[in-house]
Amino acid sequence: YGCNNFCTYCIVPYVRGRERSREPQKILEEVRELALNGYKEVTLLGQNVNSYMNHPGADLEGAGEINSFAKLLDAVCKIDGIERVRFISPHPKDFTDDVIEAIANCEKVCKSIHLPLQSGSTNVLKVMNRKYTKQQYLELAYKIKEKIPNVSLTTDIIVGFPGETEEDFEDTLDVVEKLKFEQVFMFIYSRRKGTVADKMDNQIPEDVKHRRFNKLKALVENQIEDNNKKYLGTIQKVLIDGTSKNNKNTLSGRTDGNKVVVIDADKKYISKIVDVKITEECMWYLKGE
Ligand code: SF4
Repeated sequence: YGCNNFCTYCIVPYVRGRERSREPQKILEEVRELALNGYKEVTLLGQNVNSYMNHPGADLEGAGEINSFAKLLDAVCKIDGIERVRFISPHPKDFTDDVIEAIANCEKVCKSIHLPLQSGSTNVLKVMNRKYTKQQYLELAYKIKEKIPNVSLTTDIIVGFPGETEEDFEDTLDVVEKLKFEQVFMFIYSRRKGTVADKMDNQIPEDVKHRRFNKLKALVENQIEDNNKKYLGTIQKVLIDGTSKNNKNTLSGRTDGNKVVVIDADKKYISKIVDVKITEECMWYLKGE
């Protein structure tokens, strides 16, 4: 719970307070209980999930052996009945090698990592107080790709942060071009009262923000379209989580890489992990049989 990072656009540290880590034994008890009730997948959720037990005030003595996020991931994976483990949202500055290793080594940890970029410009990242540079982010992403084969990376990007120049924006496009994210959650910067960025006097005009946003969106959509083609004809393990939102006669689920897959199949497959052959790709989801 909470966050110590104070990114200048974000209100979370003011409303949720400083970082606190739940006792590992309580988390494990909760996951065991979920497994007993038939849950197959859990998501470890924190504002800054990978600084688990690595912040001032963390009760390391009480935590015993599970004194880091990597060890928590490992312990959750050992719980019988749980077949998939995800986590959100990590901060790039806290993405340590032991976490990369835990993801690579534990079969149950989904090979899909959401790594918020926010901006590709080192200048903007500095004003955002993100505590990493463009180069550091790229190096981390390349390391993850090297150590975890077939990993799918997703990200968040804010367009039009105060003071963002055309050159800064080009840096963001450059990172997107280089890393070919599986999915990009794109946001036009909007002012939040009580944040440092709201008081900055170099706000970007709305038309400029929208123009940049549309350019990024076009690039991302092109990449997703290209990327989706690689799934055609492949067999994916899909956890069927219910009927499809738009058509109650079809089922929907997610791959290990968190892609939504829609299939025509009997409802008896709900809550099971099944092999699905991908037959069609649409922008935001895949179809299979
Ligand atoms: Fe913390 Fe995330 Fe908000 Fe930054 S964006 S202050 S890391 S919650």
